[in-house]
Amino acid sequence: MSILSVTQAETAINVQVPLLTPTSVGLRHLQGSVLAEAIYMERDQPPFNRVTMDGIAINSRTSLRDFRIIGTQAAGSPPLSILQTDECIEVMTGAELPTGCDCVIPVEQIKRSDNRVELLNSAAMHPNLNVQLRGSDATQGQLILQPGTRLSATEIAIIASAGYRQAVVRPSPRIALVSTGNELIEPGEAIKDWQIRRSNTYAIQAALQQHGHRHVVDHHLVDDMTSMRNALNPILADNDVVILSGGVSMGKFDYVPQVLTDLGVQCIFHKVAQRPGKPLWFGLRSDGKTVYALPGNPVSTLICLHRYVLPGLLHSMGANASNSELIRLAHQVKTNADMTLFLPVTLCRQNDTVQAITHPTRGSGDFISLLGTQGFVQLPQTAIPLEAGTEVPFYRWQS
Ligand code: AMP
Ligand code: MG
Repeated sequence: MSILSVTQAETAINVQVPLLTPTSVGLRHLQGSVLAEAIYMERDQPPFNRVTMDGIAINSRTSLRDFRIIGTQAAGSPPLSILQTDECIEVMTGAELPTGCDCVIPVEQIKRSDNRVELLNSAAMHPNLNVQLRGSDATQGQLILQPGTRLSATEIAIIASAGYRQAVVRPSPRIALVSTGNELIEPGEAIKDWQIRRSNTYAIQAALQQHGHRHVVDHHLVDDMTSMRNALNPILADNDVVILSGGVSMGKFDYVPQVLTDLGVQCIFHKVAQRPGKPLWFGLRSDGKTVYALPGNPVSTLICLHRYVLPGLLHSMGANASNSELIRLAHQVKTNADMTLFLPVTLCRQNDTVQAITHPTRGSGDFISLLGTQGFVQLPQTAIPLEAGTEVPFYRWQS
């Protein structure tokens, strides 16, 4: 199997990753899901001429500055009306503009005595003042949210205000995190000099959580072909996506590709022309299970997770989103003609633009050097160094 370029690997994931099944989900549980239906406005927004300040509603086509209060109208009450221009209605924010009125004078700009009010000199008065006209934000029947939109507070407010109790969405998949390696020891447990803390799982879990993926379980497997096969079988059955770390390189005990193939997971690609993260493995099973097997070195794991897995998960949810931005390099950077380079960066402000200062690690095991970095840039496969100011794709650790 030939080594893919970064773009080919990304395309292979986007094209091949199966879409999760849409389901109807109640308003309280929509956060982080991706819409699988279009949402239309139930009514005009606002649905009536809406008062936007507490005050008095009057007819502005008068030269009077002194009015008689003939009623009080709260939000949620049917509209009162005035018949004479010397009349006014006391109104609250969110109420419908009373019939016969076209303007609201805020309570701070009036002087009140008993049932009369006088406008202060500073009070302006003209049609539609402090009134939000019916349909000025959106109109009944308007397509307001497209399928493929990821849902958070703003979108959920719109769905609720459009009268939907639930929406058809693709929720975040059920994800299993699987670390592999005989050397890995759980934090808090006794450890020998030659052993390593099992840290990737916690890093991946934090990143998944931060990106709104809540259904995550966690397993650890030792480097033994048979026990790996036996353990992965039910893990594949119970989850939509499996993210492995470790065991995909050329080492004698790197059994992950073989075991996945034995379990019917077809390899879509193994190895990408990139550093770090060259041994990345991606595969699919005919029942729709998706497997990302990441190299175990912590810097490779985190970079492959952000560059391929997080976008792949969103893709399987039907989102049209990309997690990359463009950023300018703050200085000249050397590239590699044979592979794409991913370099951690810190951000700085120069000449009023945000720029990236590269912060190389001492190899893909050196995750300590990631401290203080905000993400990584992707440098194209080319022999020619990139000059300061060149725009390159940038991936944030935190969105
Ligand atoms: P591998 O990809 O299995 O060859 O592992 C490469 C390096 O990453 C080895 O030094 C491993 O000890 C380390 N490593 C693998 N998995 C993890 C993990 N879950 N947490 C921390 N380090 C890991
Ligand atoms: Mg290993």
